[in-house]
Amino acid sequence: MKYIYDFSKDNEPAFRVAAPASYTFKTLSCYGDLTPDICEPDKINPATGPLFIEGAHPGDTLKVTIKSIDLAPSGVVKVSGFMKHQIEGLHWHQLAIENNSVVLAGRRLPLKKMIGVIGVAPSDDPVPTITPGKHGANMDAKIIGEGSIVYLPVQVEGALLAMGDVHALMGDGETGGTGIEIGAKIEVLVEVIKGQMSQWPMVETEDFISVITSAPTLDEASEMAVKEMASYLAKTLELPLPEATMLLGLAGDLKVCQIVNPLKTARFEFPKKYL
Ligand code: CA
Ligand code: ZN
Repeated sequence: MKYIYDFSKDNEPAFRVAAPASYTFKTLSCYGDLTPDICEPDKINPATGPLFIEGAHPGDTLKVTIKSIDLAPSGVVKVSGFMKHQIEGLHWHQLAIENNSVVLAGRRLPLKKMIGVIGVAPSDDPVPTITPGKHGANMDAKIIGEGSIVYLPVQVEGALLAMGDVHALMGDGETGGTGIEIGAKIEVLVEVIKGQMSQWPMVETEDFISVITSAPTLDEASEMAVKEMASYLAKTLELPLPEATMLLGLAGDLKVCQIVNPLKTARFEFPKKYL
């Protein structure tokens, strides 16, 4: 497996497939499978890939179905984020995965596996894997799990898909600073849809369609999530923008993906039953 630390149009493809195709990404944790005390600062947040998808052209949408996520035997949780300023020193735990759960502070917590980093190469300057954007990357959206479908706007020939930073469990916001950071094996199905579905990544789960936006502040990210969902609903449902806005305001939910990365990430979830 090959690892990247920037999403870049200049990255050499690690592998090539012709869509539709299944592919398995073996991913490292955000610490390169090391622990937070000894991880190398310039080797943070590796993404596996990139995968060149023949048939994916700029202006298309890459449809990535997450078929399965198999976890390493243990992962790591660490204190950072807002609480880093309240708590001195480095605090982390290695947690064993047992019976689809972990034990922390005497509580057994069931897993909810998710992919922190998934993206394609941007058409302009390289972006570090730690920074989320229109090309995806470190969105830390807990809805990107087994069975989810991620739609990414293709920006360069072959899309150059890469992913990593799997979490065994994380709450919305990634408020403690990290999830349970863990190595994994991710099996995906990649397909190409002609035309752009959205300027931003979208995620489809059993009951919801969501748009995921990132910006320097959560306010700006939230505004973009609402705007993008409004225009998506107006276009898809052939509604005037005021009606689309009323509909999303009444039936949709604005949520926080993460507040700990260089850009903050919001998402807007809309029930598929109203599509
Ligand atoms: Ca992350
Ligand atoms: Zn992570």
